[in-house]
Amino acid sequence: MAYNPYENAQAQFDTVADSINLEQSARDLLREPMKEFHFNIPVKMDDGTTKVYRAYRIKHNDARGPAKGGLRFHPHETADTVRALSMWMTWKTAVVDIPLGGGKGGVVCDPRLMSLGEQERLCRGFVRQSYGQLGEVVDVAAPDVMTNAQHMLWMMDEYETMTGGRHPGMITGKPVGMGGSLGRTEATGYGVIFVLKEMLDSENIDIKNTTASIQGFGNVGEYTALKYSQFGGKIITVACYSPSDNNTYTFRKKTGCDVKELVSIKDSYGSIDKEKALALGYEVLPGDDWLKEDVDILIPAALENQITPEVFPSISKSVRVLCEAANGPTTPDSDDLIKERGLLLLPDFLTNAGGVTCSYFEQVQSNMNYFWPLAEVLEKLEFSMTNAFRAVYNLAKERNLYMRDAAYVIAINRVYDAIKQRGWI
Ligand code: GLU
Repeated sequence: MAYNPYENAQAQFDTVADSINLEQSARDLLREPMKEFHFNIPVKMDDGTTKVYRAYRIKHNDARGPAKGGLRFHPHETADTVRALSMWMTWKTAVVDIPLGGGKGGVVCDPRLMSLGEQERLCRGFVRQSYGQLGEVVDVAAPDVMTNAQHMLWMMDEYETMTGGRHPGMITGKPVGMGGSLGRTEATGYGVIFVLKEMLDSENIDIKNTTASIQGFGNVGEYTALKYSQFGGKIITVACYSPSDNNTYTFRKKTGCDVKELVSIKDSYGSIDKEKALALGYEVLPGDDWLKEDVDILIPAALENQITPEVFPSISKSVRVLCEAANGPTTPDSDDLIKERGLLLLPDFLTNAGGVTCSYFEQVQSNMNYFWPLAEVLEKLEFSMTNAFRAVYNLAKERNLYMRDAAYVIAINRVYDAIKQRGWI
């Protein structure tokens, strides 16, 4: 069955909107993005030809502050995926209570097949085509799937060239020293583990006695795995995509992966080198066996629609926690199965909100032109993430709610208050 992330995001919203009797005008406003920009970016390629790339920047809602969210480069990007992701950003910024809204962008491209010069021209073209719709008080982009600090800096530079002034708050995830915040690169993954640790503590489970299987080894997967193993948890398997043969592989070490070692043999997009892994004693299993591993915690940290009713039965009976580090990794028709199995769920837009929380800190620092030490950033990040988790967890316990629904109730109510107070409805 083919899943559409936008339909998934709307289905999740509708369920909670029904349960809290959300008024119709708020539903009409919140179940769709407020503004969408679809445009083409012509890019001069190294061989002298010009390629035209399809791009999207979508603002779901900016009642609580400027739209905020990542920009993805992916060959399978679609308008509906960006719509869903922009919607999830609205809930994400609301659940961690930062004064920002929700937006997202995407370009249909494969940066793995583009030179750095071509990528730079694409980034600059993105800013030229969407100028007027970006900026620190309008809509603030950040890294996401296959985009990084260098891409953000090129975009900032193009924007500053066009405006003739300095605007470091117009984009986040910039390199440290160029308006970036210490800790931003690690923030999403670290935030995932701050939330996971808090939940395990609440459930009287010692993280040191747990094992995990993780899907995806890009920025989020890497720092999630690193922090988890720093806290004493054991990663048994890491699954990632191999662009050389378009397949997924699962890398396994039953005694526990050495995360730093795996990081040293991966490329910047998160693909682990199979030959090197074999030489280091890892089993390299073709396919997506990360779900079947006998571990306590599953951490999808790649793309959307990975946990479906079709694959659900293959999840090992030993799994107790589903920790969603990616955006939209679980389809709505899997939620009942998760409930039946009694898995502890950490919902995506709460669990992976560390990235945008640190982006907010980056904006604050950029605007002040005064930068905090790493320890201060991480302390603030941990404080925000654990507070957000506590509110969701307590509500779920009090009202006997599924964790995803509890997170939605808090987020939707905050956005509802903002649109009501502004007089939009
Ligand atoms: N792309 C990240 C996310 O999905 C971070 C967004 C941001 O920092 O604005 O949450």
